[in-house]
Amino acid sequence: MRVAVLPGDGIGPEIVAQACKVLKKLDGRIQLQEAAVGGAGYAAAGDPLPPATLALAKEADAILFGAVGDPRYDTLERAKRPEQAILGLRKALGLFANLRPARVFPELAASSSLRAELVAGLDLLIVRELTGDIYFGQPKGIREKGGSKGAEREGFDTMLYSESEVRRIARVAFEAAQRRSRRVCSVDKANVLETSQLWREVLIQESKNYGDVELSHMYVDNCAMQLVRNPKQFDVIVTGNLFGDILSDEASMLTGSIGMLPSASLDARGKGLYEPVHGSAPDIAGRGVANPLATILSAAMMLRYSLKQPEAAARIETAVAKVLRAGLRTADIQAPGGKALGTEEMGDAVVAAL
Ligand code: NAD
Repeated sequence: MRVAVLPGDGIGPEIVAQACKVLKKLDGRIQLQEAAVGGAGYAAAGDPLPPATLALAKEADAILFGAVGDPRYDTLERAKRPEQAILGLRKALGLFANLRPARVFPELAASSSLRAELVAGLDLLIVRELTGDIYFGQPKGIREKGGSKGAEREGFDTMLYSESEVRRIARVAFEAAQRRSRRVCSVDKANVLETSQLWREVLIQESKNYGDVELSHMYVDNCAMQLVRNPKQFDVIVTGNLFGDILSDEASMLTGSIGMLPSASLDARGKGLYEPVHGSAPDIAGRGVANPLATILSAAMMLRYSLKQPEAAARIETAVAKVLRAGLRTADIQAPGGKALGTEEMGDAVVAAL
């Protein structure tokens, strides 16, 4: 098993080092090979995604990614900006399925903006299609529009999904549900959009291959409301790129702690890129205070989805739960007045709990 380790910028190297420590403790056979990406890639090779880094990512069985973004490079032309690395990796590796779990460890329920009893024990997974929809549909642009009161401009984008694109994301969602509580809620706007009608038809067809999973449908506006009314009703939510962009941010914030949220982006064969949802946090970089748990939980997702080691994944998740139950906290999830652990101490605590 070969894992490409791309720490990136800001707190990236600090948090990725903790996840690597956990992986090494768990299974000495996993080969970890590191390469520069983002601002670090630009500094080393003049390119946020250097060819050697991309080659390593292509050859590996999975990619563990920290974060990219460095204020020193904010004035570079767009193609050289650190954030281009993640877009380049998604495109080059065909990462079309974005998995964003929102899980609330009972000990952290009070950090949510919702009442603790609404979110305690929340465990949902948003499966968002990542390479299609209105973000990529052609034609798009801004054009002149004639009219009796004179010309004005209009902007337009095209929402577009093919059956095969819907089918492959549906499969990812059904298979993820088989590993969880076996319920998929497909979110669309089929009362208004043709794209959504096709989406719904394909979901229903594909569900016939997953008789053990229950499929339901919900309009996106209702889903946005239900996520804050009663989020625990959901197991897996599957949706398109645009709706998923918005709903996954909404769902992740129910947990109240950005330092705790992992994510995966998968290709058609289950190879994936695993990263925390948060960015490079330049405001706390280099101080050894960042929360490494989102990255450690991303490594657990990597074991589950790409390296096919579900027991090892569960061991990491149990170790994280144990550390939180023992009252250990980094500053971002610490109640005011308590003593916070540093990044390395938190990594050590998870290793000890393993
Ligand atoms: P951010 O997620 O980096 O930080 C937002 C806030 O959350 C900051 O106050 C930060 O200190 C805190 N925070 C984030 N992660 C934390 C952790 N693990 N522990 C404790 N606190 C944490 O978002 P931002 O400030 O908007 O962006 C900073 C840079 O990151 C930008 O350059 C942005 O483009 C980039 N970014 C990269 C990715 C990615 O690599 N996938 C994602 C989002 C943002």
